[in-house]
Amino acid sequence: MTLGTTANPLRVAIIGSGPSAFYAAEHYLKNDLVVEIDMFERLPTPYGLVRGGVAPDHPKIKTVTKVYDRTAANLNFRFYGNVNFGTDLTIDDIRAHYHQIVFAVGAQTDRRMGIPGEDLANSHAATEFVGWYNAHPEYREFQFDLSQETVAVIGNGNVAMDVARILASTYDELVKTDIADYALKALTDSKVRDIYVIGRRGPAQAAFTNPELKELGELQACDVIVRPEDAELDALSNEYVLTSHDRDAERNSQTLMRYSVETPEGKPRRIHMMFLLSPTALFGTDRVESVELIKNELYRADDGTLRPRATDEKITIPVGLVFRSIGYKGVALPGVPFDEKGGIIPNVEGRVINPADKSVVAGEYVVGWIKRGPSGIIGTNKPDSQASVNQALADATAGSTFTPVTPSRSAVETLLHERGVDYVTFAEWQKLDQAEVERGAALNRPRLKFSRIDEMLQIVRELREPSPGD
Ligand code: NAP
Repeated sequence: MTLGTTANPLRVAIIGSGPSAFYAAEHYLKNDLVVEIDMFERLPTPYGLVRGGVAPDHPKIKTVTKVYDRTAANLNFRFYGNVNFGTDLTIDDIRAHYHQIVFAVGAQTDRRMGIPGEDLANSHAATEFVGWYNAHPEYREFQFDLSQETVAVIGNGNVAMDVARILASTYDELVKTDIADYALKALTDSKVRDIYVIGRRGPAQAAFTNPELKELGELQACDVIVRPEDAELDALSNEYVLTSHDRDAERNSQTLMRYSVETPEGKPRRIHMMFLLSPTALFGTDRVESVELIKNELYRADDGTLRPRATDEKITIPVGLVFRSIGYKGVALPGVPFDEKGGIIPNVEGRVINPADKSVVAGEYVVGWIKRGPSGIIGTNKPDSQASVNQALADATAGSTFTPVTPSRSAVETLLHERGVDYVTFAEWQKLDQAEVERGAALNRPRLKFSRIDEMLQIVRELREPSPGD
């Protein structure tokens, strides 16, 4: 029977439900073959980092979920939340019920600095703090010692900007957002005064984007402090800015220069942007008490980029709390090839490969951060997912897929029921979503997120209509 027809639809399992997952689903559903998409997500809630990563004070970015909801409304799409790939559903189960699988699991952990003292109390991954303030169930029990007055944020990406900005925001700024209620309380009581954002390269090499840098200057109760020597570009960077047409580098350098000449207004909090400094150790007895940094200079590497090189000058800044924000890292999935060094599923343009002999694993595809590493904004995932799905569709047409024995939705649902997996459908998520919005409205907030899986499941069960005969 021809694959991709109403009688024999191409059955695809997508693991994960963030942007890359939804863009993959959208592209599959737009093509000429008849495709059935089943999207599996370990949380009861969809949207990945749009819900659990995007900063609560960036509501416009989150409206992208409307596009995903249109995909979810397609009759050939089903969402199964609260299903853990590897335990509730294994790769063998997928092979028995689907023709293809797409891994869209993102990068679930953080990169480490690899320096002494990194594991002292009060030293955290920024990703933990982000998950915590976004009500991610896996991070809601984390504790952050906001009784400290001085904080270091290591790294110069947009996550570092988010962390610094949230730490510096006031109650009035945060209450307007969908930040977790417990985080709103903790941040309102916070004693944090000085936040040092530390980049290992210079202003022209910062990974953050200019709107994020400018937002710091618009905070109600926080001055941005840049020492003139930090804003000043070295000769190599200056030449780069003048000749490269790199608008981000140019704008960031200009904004930092402006900050460096502005007189601080004497606001109660301060974000200090510091450059050309790499952390070499965290010191402290029971907890972090200071960070030691080595001064860097830039040199032109063989690939033409400007890289940091340590000098012999060190400085120490007393800090009571540290967030390392130096990038995310992928985590291996059971039964799926993994490239430890790169933190990705090894692939050639989205087709999963065996790392040993580089042979293609038929039927397996990858999209998003677990495909290419943790870079790019949400929109980057659209063409990236489309490229992988194009490979998958070409393979399906050529007959290179899994050969499932029971390619049916009902068989998968029966299997999950038999295993006692209480999966959450998209319609149930939408009710949960509505409940969050209603809880928020009662407090004059855009949304009050549920942050415990038990709580979410209880609500879903209460909202479930009794089936006939109950
Ligand atoms: P990122 O953009 O890759 O930035 C990582 C930063 O860590 C870089 O400044 C990097 O410096 C630095 N770093 C890496 N290793 C280091 C080390 N050993 N010591 C000191 N510094 C080190 O990562 P991210 O901030 O986690 O963001 C991930 C992606 O999500 C990015 O594409 C980002 O744009 C996106 N994002 C976007 C938004 C938004 O649009 N508002 C918000 C959050 C995240 P080098 O450059 O020198 O390597």
